[in-house]
Amino acid sequence: YGKLPLVQLVPVEEMTFPLWEFEAKRFLEYAKELGIDPKIRPYRGVLDLQSNTFIVFNYHMNSKSCPLLKTDGKCSIYGKERAFVCNLFPLNRSPFLHVDSPLDKSIFGNCGGLETIPEKLDYKDNDKLVGQLYHSFGHTFLAAVQHDLVMEWSNKLILELMKAKKIRPAINYPRDKLLRRIQNTRQVDLFEFLVEIGHFTQQEADATIERFRNYEDAKERVKQVTGSL
Ligand code: SF4
Repeated sequence: YGKLPLVQLVPVEEMTFPLWEFEAKRFLEYAKELGIDPKIRPYRGVLDLQSNTFIVFNYHMNSKSCPLLKTDGKCSIYGKERAFVCNLFPLNRSPFLHVDSPLDKSIFGNCGGLETIPEKLDYKDNDKLVGQLYHSFGHTFLAAVQHDLVMEWSNKLILELMKAKKIRPAINYPRDKLLRRIQNTRQVDLFEFLVEIGHFTQQEADATIERFRNYEDAKERVKQVTGSL
């Protein structure tokens, strides 16, 4: 997965509705209350040879349409705390995610209701674009930014854990062998693992998740650029 030892268990084209592990836990509870199978499966993680653990960073709902979508087209959990992927639509990503492709209209997904907004934005001036997106999309934009910042945080975390020799990820394994090994290895969610190895106390893990859920990093980063929220 890029230059990081992250293993994607499902090909991108088959992956639907990605959830961070702390979001997946919430979705499992919602689904239990509703009596449905949310088809939540591990999607991305790191195979740590040191602890013989597959550390799950993300899950996805393995279904063509979201299992929480009702037959009348409404969301069963609309009034509840949903996931970044639910809240960031119609954005695909924010200008804070560093990828190889240039910033352009592709930061938006397909949405007929967008009309001419994507054409009117200034993709050449990053700071101006952040302001325009925040003023046009508000909370939706914060969801996209927070999602990208959690991604950035998790990427740095992997490097930090490797440097401190707290994990020894499987690298350069043939993919078939790697997937077979993951199937036969215990799986532990990321935050649980961080507490298990003493990288975080339980309180630090809970506080970090809370920070992500409240979009605190996104608010701070957008405020740094726009001067106010
Ligand atoms: S908004 Fe509701 S129906 Fe849509 S993806 Fe999220 S949980 Fe599923």
